[in-house]
Amino acid sequence: MRLSRYFLPVLKETPSEAQIVSHRLMLRAGMIKQASAGIYSWLPLGYKVLKRIEQIVHEEQIRAGHIPMLMPTLQSAELWRESGRYDAYGPEMLRIRDRHDRDMLYGPTNEEMITDIFRSHVASYKDLPLTLYHIQWKFRDEVRPRFGVMRGREFLMKDGYNFDLTKEDALHAYNRHLVSYLRSYERMGLQAIPMRADSGPIGGDDTHEFLVLAETGESEVFYDSQITDLRFGDRAIDYDSVEQCQSVLEEFTSRYARTDETHDPEVFAQIPQERQRVARGIEVGQIFYFGTKYSDAMGATVDDGQGGKVPVHMGSHGIGVSRLVGAIIEASHDDKGIIWPEGVTPFHVAIVNLKQGDAACDGACEDLYKALTAKGLEPLYDDRAERAGAKFATMDLIGLPWRITVGPRGLGAGVVELTSRKTGESEELSPEAAVARVAEIYAPHR
Ligand code: ATP
Ligand code: MG
Repeated sequence: MRLSRYFLPVLKETPSEAQIVSHRLMLRAGMIKQASAGIYSWLPLGYKVLKRIEQIVHEEQIRAGHIPMLMPTLQSAELWRESGRYDAYGPEMLRIRDRHDRDMLYGPTNEEMITDIFRSHVASYKDLPLTLYHIQWKFRDEVRPRFGVMRGREFLMKDGYNFDLTKEDALHAYNRHLVSYLRSYERMGLQAIPMRADSGPIGGDDTHEFLVLAETGESEVFYDSQITDLRFGDRAIDYDSVEQCQSVLEEFTSRYARTDETHDPEVFAQIPQERQRVARGIEVGQIFYFGTKYSDAMGATVDDGQGGKVPVHMGSHGIGVSRLVGAIIEASHDDKGIIWPEGVTPFHVAIVNLKQGDAACDGACEDLYKALTAKGLEPLYDDRAERAGAKFATMDLIGLPWRITVGPRGLGAGVVELTSRKTGESEELSPEAAVARVAEIYAPHR
């Protein structure tokens, strides 16, 4: 993409309404525009990051054997009356009436709808196990929408639902989700710690929330510092293996890590004092096992192969896709702007032309642009007739991890400069070598 043809409405001033750094930077970098309280338009740059996150979530869910689909945003109130949640949900649910006076709602989640789909089409234990998921907009009329996309009213969520014959099978689905979530967050350059949590209105006993540590997080968390040394990495895992998934659960949940709702000061006090941590975190996902709560209420049964009918065991598993954009920025920025992790960056590399209009510089930039594109990379080329300082400031603000700077002096010596946004370190390379380096850097992310 050439910056002169892109739509990147960066702001010079720091918007006064934004209280936290991710919200400020998303506004300044022209990623979002508020449409009304807690509802945002995703401008091109923000939209690109959102799509990258979505893509990682899809890839990791499919890798775990979960099946993508799409349910609507608007739902009929009927199903929610069956489960008893139509009244129980309260004012967070946006209720709508259509022209025929039918009660509708903008879905805050989809347990009822997926259970209805299941009971309409699945009758036998032979069709289990089954995990379906979608990535769809949700609406919750939050009392206090704030912090930009972190606590919106309309937000994008991946929600997945497992259907299993037995509790053991459903717990395997739970563990599979835990593993797939660990992988997803790491690919986004994040450390998200699974913490024992409270199930709230969804119901059920087994639940973990995934938290990204950040001072601006809304949850208070308590943990054993040893947990922050754990990395999932690129280990191979067989998602069908009960033992393998179980062992990851044990590894990542054996140390103390809880939200304030489940915090137990007595157990916490048993951790050596130098390892006790009290901090704040951003909830970027949650997994639940809730047994037969919805299948009982809504008659989702299968024949068990022995002449009987049994309610299926279920769980639901959510990732806050749009919240993650803010959470990643909270975890990765400096005073100049955003620093995108390579896995989610909107463009892979910036090309900055120091002397627009100079035939050698323009030609070298065009060649770099073509060579990077040919390698399947997406460069953002700043081809505006701007001062070098202004070009650098824009690129630093929008946070592309790598920048190639092209100027007459370097070209005279046959080199361009490759700079890391994170460390600020630069290296002089031939244009061909710079392209090869960038391709090599991104190889693990594609
Ligand atoms: P919270 O406690 O933050 O209100 P929740 O526990 O009600 O969230 P879940 O039902 O677990 O949310 O939804 C799954 C994920 O969706 C959450 O982990 C979070 O990342 C995201 N999410 C929930 N509410 C919002 C919101 N208002 N804005 C953006 N993302 C949200
Ligand atoms: Mg939650």
